[in-house]
Amino acid sequence: MTALLGCIADDFTGGTDLAGMLVKAGMRTVQLIGVPEGPPPDDVDAVVIALKSRTNPVEDAVAESLAALRWLREAGCRQFYFKYCSTFDSTPRGNIGPVAEALMQALETDFTIACPAFPANGRTLYKGNLFVGDVPLSESGMHNHPLTPMTDANLVRVLQQQAGRKVGLVDYATVSRGDAAIRERFTALRQQGHGFAIVDALSNADLDAIGAACADLPLVTGGSGIALGLPQNFRLRGLLAENAVADALPKTGGLRAVISGSCSMATQRQVEVMRASFPSFNIDPIQLARGEDVVSAALDWAGGRIAQQPVLIYATATPEAVRQVQAELGVAHAGELVENALATIARGLVLLGVGQMIVAGGETSGAVVKALGVKGLRIGPEIDPGVPWTSTLHDDDGTPPLALALKSGNFGSEDFFLKAWARLQ
Ligand code: ADP
Repeated sequence: MTALLGCIADDFTGGTDLAGMLVKAGMRTVQLIGVPEGPPPDDVDAVVIALKSRTNPVEDAVAESLAALRWLREAGCRQFYFKYCSTFDSTPRGNIGPVAEALMQALETDFTIACPAFPANGRTLYKGNLFVGDVPLSESGMHNHPLTPMTDANLVRVLQQQAGRKVGLVDYATVSRGDAAIRERFTALRQQGHGFAIVDALSNADLDAIGAACADLPLVTGGSGIALGLPQNFRLRGLLAENAVADALPKTGGLRAVISGSCSMATQRQVEVMRASFPSFNIDPIQLARGEDVVSAALDWAGGRIAQQPVLIYATATPEAVRQVQAELGVAHAGELVENALATIARGLVLLGVGQMIVAGGETSGAVVKALGVKGLRIGPEIDPGVPWTSTLHDDDGTPPLALALKSGNFGSEDFFLKAWARLQ
């Protein structure tokens, strides 16, 4: 069976968020890092191609998105999804409007929706206005965003600035009447010459109704919330199994290690908890800056212990310690030194026989994934909200899959590093 839903995400963690959602809704999903070269992996219902197109120049974002769409079409996908942030992160130039319109043109469709609502995370839409918790988007702190300041909560206006086609609204009065009413409104908007509909949504039930109404749209655009309603359309058409286990991963054995380059509050607690009962090795950025061979020291240390129990290698430090290091080395240089060291250590640990690895830190995860030559991730069971186990996909070079959990800074409970392993069995 080929993939059904082809998704293009405008950043990596947004892609993971969407992929996790689709798995929860019963679709077997892989996330690919950038536009791949080879054919799609087997046994998947949805593919998410994660780009870095949120804030790059419009022309580049459009070109990359079109390349991703071409690949997804060749992979056999029947419906396409453009995923952006649930706070609609964009500027008057784009990239949401121009990318969506380029995808519409390539798919020869004249209508799509734009709905970043994610009620479970406090993102709701009413009369076209996006709320973050209890306040309009423009009062949520997003007006201070360094790259994509959002100063208007009215998404009809925001998207209209970025798009050539007319933007209309499916308001809550219609959405609350269910999918047939929403579909009727789509038809009316289309007849009036609208290319986009911003769609109000206040609850998961609304997302389900909107999803059902989108069954025949070639392209859907939104945050990850709206993806919740789409798998059911494939089920109703007999294309997706009723109670499929979507989060099964290939079996991985091997030794266990945790690498932490995150200094976020949650990670600091998690490191403390693991340090209390497992061997741990601290990476000192100042030693790295002096050119000491910290990487070999860490791997020698791990080599003597890891066969007995999981080990922790961490650069995690208190805000005060981080500030001191940054004052001495510079923020960027300190970050780069630590990321490079941890990524090289990750490679060394795999050579020592590690088959199951947890990495803490968004940037740190990016560096590790790159160093390990990972091309994509099959999404598995959730450990804590937003953090699934995954299984790595590599080029056809015989590299065996690795079980990898990529945890961004503030995610996960205190005992995350201890309890995560149990979710693999
Ligand atoms: P998070 O997801 O918590 O933001 P990241 O990995 O994205 O974590 O970012 C943490 C950054 O801090 C990385 O660039 C990492 O290399 C850097 N870093 C980690 N430990 C230290 C340290 N002890 N001193 C200075 N910088 C550090």
